[in-house]
Amino acid sequence: MADAPVLARISRVDACEIDTTGERAFQVAGSGGRGAGSAAIPADVSLCDDCRRELLDPADRRFRYPFINCTNCGPRYTVIEATPYDRIRTTMARFPLCPACAAEYHDPRSRRFHAEPNACPACGPEVWFEPGPVRRDEGIRQSVRWLTNGLILAIKGVGGFHLACRATDEAAVARLRERKRRGNKPFAVMAADLAQAMRIAHLSADHITALTSRERPIVLAPCRQDLDPCLAPAVAPGLAVVGVMLPYSPLHELLVEAMPLVMTSGNRSEEPIAIDNDDARTRLAGLCDGFLFHDRAIVVACDDSVTTVVDGRPVPIRRSRGFAPLPVALGRSGPAVLATGADVKATICLTQGDQAILSHHLGDQETLETQDAFRAAVTHLTALYRVRPAAIVTDLHPGYFSTGWAREAARASGVPLLVVQHHHAHIAAVLAEHRRPPDERVIGVAFDGTGYGPDGTIWGGEFLIASMAGFDRAGHLSPAPLPGGDSAIRYPRKTALAYLAAAGVPWAPWIPAVAASSETERRVLERQLESGLQVVPTTAAGRLFDAVASIIGLRHEAGYEAEPAMVLEATAGEIPGLPYPVAVAGDPPFVLPIGPIIRAVVRDLETGADPGTIAARFHATVVRLVAVGAAAIRTSTGIGVVALGGGAFQNGLLLSGARAALRADGFEVLVPELVPPNDGGMSLGQAVIGRERLRSTEGAA
Ligand code: ZN
Ligand code: ZN
Ligand code: FE
Repeated sequence: MADAPVLARISRVDACEIDTTGERAFQVAGSGGRGAGSAAIPADVSLCDDCRRELLDPADRRFRYPFINCTNCGPRYTVIEATPYDRIRTTMARFPLCPACAAEYHDPRSRRFHAEPNACPACGPEVWFEPGPVRRDEGIRQSVRWLTNGLILAIKGVGGFHLACRATDEAAVARLRERKRRGNKPFAVMAADLAQAMRIAHLSADHITALTSRERPIVLAPCRQDLDPCLAPAVAPGLAVVGVMLPYSPLHELLVEAMPLVMTSGNRSEEPIAIDNDDARTRLAGLCDGFLFHDRAIVVACDDSVTTVVDGRPVPIRRSRGFAPLPVALGRSGPAVLATGADVKATICLTQGDQAILSHHLGDQETLETQDAFRAAVTHLTALYRVRPAAIVTDLHPGYFSTGWAREAARASGVPLLVVQHHHAHIAAVLAEHRRPPDERVIGVAFDGTGYGPDGTIWGGEFLIASMAGFDRAGHLSPAPLPGGDSAIRYPRKTALAYLAAAGVPWAPWIPAVAASSETERRVLERQLESGLQVVPTTAAGRLFDAVASIIGLRHEAGYEAEPAMVLEATAGEIPGLPYPVAVAGDPPFVLPIGPIIRAVVRDLETGADPGTIAARFHATVVRLVAVGAAAIRTSTGIGVVALGGGAFQNGLLLSGARAALRADGFEVLVPELVPPNDGGMSLGQAVIGRERLRSTEGAA
């Protein structure tokens, strides 16, 4: 095991005695093309050091060849069309190996022994630049020139197209932002190397570990503006955090040369990332000045993964290229189910035996294109793994696209449809990755944006007593009115006004949220709140963050999802803050009133406290809410384990603070480490809940 290949993972060792077979040699037999399909599908792996050395070695036959790879690196999931994984069932099938590559492929001593995507300039894929075409290395050099001159290129990579421009060029970045209609949403930056990444962001040893890992995710880290080369301010306007990554394919290695590049998904906002050349030509034409294409087809669109680091540990924000479809080990076997996730940051999850296979990131299910991507992912994954799900598991929300799809699919295939509450799934996802026993009950704290509650209101500040088998709502934040649903999420000032009204705070014009709303807006809102028309009660923690961000004047309009909360977190920074008063009220399900918090924020504002101080105190308060709620449940149940889930725990201050407070109080704390705390991890939770329901009905029958 000590000399296992770099990428080998020993998941289990089985030993047994067999009778003498009479065989005299050991051989590895070829796969016959109809195996069980249970062999793990590998994820794409970033360029290894050996290949990088060869790539940059003028004497090597693959010098500057942008598709160099070996058994330790290269594309996998994005080129595999069917299983078992052999070259003929990948998009490399149309590139017959030249004699030199074939010799490596068949030589057990070669680093390219059975490297399915093995290729070289003589036999493999090639790149070209358009307008032109300018072929091969000259196309790469042309791309670098165009980027240097401030132009925007669409570049075909491993999991799809990126739109790229020089990250230090304010005009170019601003133009890309404008063309992509991106608002203020930060762009990710690809640094040429680690030294450059360290000049762009403040990187701890843990950031560096994540950044240089084989998966090469985008790593979120504090922005550094004190050194050259400074990023153009338009890269991450108003945010102290920047997403950095390192080149992960040989093509990127050749493109970044010395300059950091903005590398953003090649799509119009909300659409799936383009993977096909012709599709990119039509869809991205208006967004870029030129293209760098290649002729290796991409099977599934795999966005870059995103990771943040909290308390020295990576917390996944988006689990896609490099991770998908690597299984999450569940620790025990169960029936095969298909879970459809949520409608934002969608992923699907398929269970097979003791493993859960999570798909790549499928985007927000709001457009026909993302819905197509969802359907394609279902077809592709079930075919790859040859799984026939015994049930389809979906969210309780009546209006989700995925819920409608699940209903249809269950009917069509004659399997049960299992419906799971959103926050229960968030907590179950955490339990699943920590391989907790299915009947173990924990205190689940699910804080997030929105999730459909069984009572028809919007949940999201929930204290559950939960296992994979079921849950009880033990407590929640006090509900507040959410006027107009989505419109309030878009305009946090509306939420702020509604929360002020609910807390009994008059709309005084000196409060920034009030000042930011027009006279008409306030009148309409006032009538709406009085009549209760189109007003839904919500307990969502995300809305509380929105309200406070607007009340103290940080954001009155959300340019992208969770922007107000992210700005609030950035504003709090490292400032220590004393929590506002927090209490538990009423019988189970108890309520944690938010009115006193809103009033305390306004009082602080009135006495001239600066936004940083208030933001810090607010974070300390939410930490306190988590701790107080958990303690109340422990008192009545004796449960000493807390699982934290939901998108609000992407917030490093909140996650770190809550974990510390709970540990100090003697709790064992489970947090998301393998799958995102946000809705991207939801399908895993649904899947394990579905398995338990199937098991219990089978037991009853
Ligand atoms: Zn390699
Ligand atoms: Zn070759
Ligand atoms: Fe959620």
